[in-house]
Amino acid sequence: MNESLKADVVIAGGGAAGFFAAVTCAEANPLLRVVLLEKSPELLAKVTISGGGRCNVTHACFDPDALCSFYPRGSRELRGPFHKWQPRDTVAWFEIRGVPIKAESDGRMFPVSNKSTDITGALISEAKRLGVNIWTSCGLKTVRNQEGGGFRLVLSNGSELTCEKLMLATGGNQNSSGFDLAASLGHTIVDPVPSLFTFHVDDPRIAGLPGISVPDAVVSVPGTKLKQTGPLLITHWGLSGPAVLKLSAWGGRILCDLDYTFPLQINWVGGQTTGQVTEALRNFRKQQGARTVTGPSPFGLVSRLWGSLCGAAGIEPEVNWATLTAGQLDALPRELCEGEYRVTGKSLFKEEFVTCGGVKLKEVDFRTLESKVCPGLYFGGELLDIDGVTGGFNLQAAWTTGRLAGLAMADETKEATPGRAAG
Ligand SMILES: Cc1cc2nc3c(=O)[nH]c(=O)nc-3n(C[C@H](O)[C@H](O)[C@H](O)COP(=O)(O)OP(=O)(O)OC[C@H]3O[C@@H](n4cnc5c(N)ncnc54)[C@H](O)[C@@H]3O)c2cc1C
Repeated sequence: MNESLKADVVIAGGGAAGFFAAVTCAEANPLLRVVLLEKSPELLAKVTISGGGRCNVTHACFDPDALCSFYPRGSRELRGPFHKWQPRDTVAWFEIRGVPIKAESDGRMFPVSNKSTDITGALISEAKRLGVNIWTSCGLKTVRNQEGGGFRLVLSNGSELTCEKLMLATGGNQNSSGFDLAASLGHTIVDPVPSLFTFHVDDPRIAGLPGISVPDAVVSVPGTKLKQTGPLLITHWGLSGPAVLKLSAWGGRILCDLDYTFPLQINWVGGQTTGQVTEALRNFRKQQGARTVTGPSPFGLVSRLWGSLCGAAGIEPEVNWATLTAGQLDALPRELCEGEYRVTGKSLFKEEFVTCGGVKLKEVDFRTLESKVCPGLYFGGELLDIDGVTGGFNLQAAWTTGRLAGLAMADETKEATPGRAAG
């Protein structure tokens, strides 16, 4: 690679956001020299492993305002962008390029083939077709403003590159050099911490029950406003499932401040109150007096979980409904509705994990993703202080911000920069 090369647009980060920006920009203005820098040897590495290798590419939520509600951070800022590029557009983009997309019953969308490589393949062929210069194993090391506009970049291989527009799409990894690069150009970085994780809980009530799930639980953290509903899954090390993952996303920063050690209240019965449950249990006692309490659960709970919760309320397996004591009738609804469990740590959710934190959103113009601090600098993807809950929302944010930044960089650079071509 030659020294002091020139490009019109340089995009640092060959992930979802950077790639989408590069192909959008190159398509919108074919005269531009667009260079995509990727520090690792592999392009789109996260997209390849996303969704367990199936790539949960977006979510079947086609109302931009409703879509925003799935983002603990960034919901306000993404409203305008989602009106310009939303899941329907993402689906159409891939389908036109020969990758049909399907929705699953929970709204998650995947390529029909269930192969993430169809998604990465479409992006890579499109970039090649449009003449994007892709430099792998070539990271952006430092950047400084040039007098009169544009940027001078130093790359990890020692060469220098100048450009008119620069986009940082280096991801949300806590150790990402992208945060330092953005800070060096005047941006504030909101401290990155994990979002989307599962909970470590060592408690006899759920020990030995991995794999059991409850379709409609409510989990909350006493002393905070954190509360989520949805399926709850018992794992070998504690708790997971959509209710926990949503709680971890919305509570990313609070739970970090608590050092991932906090009490968790679980309602196993769809949010029914202790009063409603007590009433239901009394009726059950009248109708089923001769049957053992640890038989079928009146609330449809899996028998091993039901038995364990009955045990926690002091009810022996052979006790029948008619002989339940007042104390047991008092303890069981509390166990079912407001049992407290101690969370002692977290594990990354293998299917998808993201960070909250990143470039401060107030410093970015969300019509174009251009910096308000440093003209000519653009952002996209997880480097921003944006994150969604699990379900395809994080990739959608990357497609949308990448798209808008790509268009803006293409529009504003009216013609190619004279000088030596890059790449
Ligand atoms: C295991 C896993 C599974 C996931 N599954 C899903 C899913 O199914 N659906 C979903 O919506 N989300 C999923 N996510 C989240 C989603 O993948 C990310 O939110 C999304 O990929 C972020 O895209 P990005 O382009 O911002 O960053 P990244 O994909 O992280 O890309 C950033 C790129 O920049 C490169 N880079 C960093 N620094 C430099 C530098 N200085 N110079 C040049 N290059 C640099 C990095 O090597 C990287 O390739 C998953 C995440 C993980 C970890």
